[in-house]
Amino acid sequence: MKKIIAVGIIALSSTYCMAQVNWHTNPVGAVFAREGRETPSGTFRFANGGYDVYTIATADKDFQPASLFYGENEADKAKVDAMAPDGKVPTALNCFVVKAPEGYIMFDTGLPSAKGGKTIERLAALNISPEAITAVYLTHGHFDHIGGLLDNEGNAAFINATIYIPETELAFIRKTMQEATNQIESAYKNKLVAFQSGEILPNNIIPIEAKGHTPGHTAYQLGSLLFVGDLMHGTAIQMLDPTICANYDSNRVQAIATRNRILSYAVANSLTVLCAHAPLNGIIF
Ligand SMILES: [Zn+2]
Repeated sequence: MKKIIAVGIIALSSTYCMAQVNWHTNPVGAVFAREGRETPSGTFRFANGGYDVYTIATADKDFQPASLFYGENEADKAKVDAMAPDGKVPTALNCFVVKAPEGYIMFDTGLPSAKGGKTIERLAALNISPEAITAVYLTHGHFDHIGGLLDNEGNAAFINATIYIPETELAFIRKTMQEATNQIESAYKNKLVAFQSGEILPNNIIPIEAKGHTPGHTAYQLGSLLFVGDLMHGTAIQMLDPTICANYDSNRVQAIATRNRILSYAVANSLTVLCAHAPLNGIIF
């Protein structure tokens, strides 16, 4: 509890100082290229703060239409067109795995194999079996993040894992994605844990409320790593102008405020930020 209060204070003060914080100086997604790295295709590995971190592309998708960011007024459309004159914005569909002391932990799961998801196949290429995953932390309940929880038969894909989801988000997907949520709840039973904001989770994970994309969207901090889910859907343009929203953001006002707060917090605390749809390896900075 103490830690969460500290996080809140830092977040508030960094929002206050936002004008001085510049997160635009890092080349977006340019830290490493997907080609030429040492890990198997569709995966990336790096070390940070004492942890081995793996980026796993659950699908090979490199671009999305710029029109996804046009928003509700002509001014937004003009800004997006100026930043993406070819009508395309780079993207990816990543989830992340960290080697923690007691096992591998995951942040989101990507798509299920039955829908063409490559998460399990790419974990295997890294010699990580689904049984080795001990915890999964879900940033939100969209299908490209939670679908990989199920195998082709609709059973739990990660039989030894406890799945953590913000309780607000679970309530949201029970209403909006009934069938998939039912399947996941019956596959994991009491190993699907809905947590309240303010709780510190096993493996020293600090959840940070990040609503806007969805009502319960949550970022997770592990040491100097910050997993931000869908805080941005097109980093190449949203890092330049965080007021631009993807059409997928359910509450634009909240999404913009959250983007500013979380990015400022990350910069102020020198965190490494990993985003599900950031191109190549998912590292924003
Ligand atoms: Zn997503």
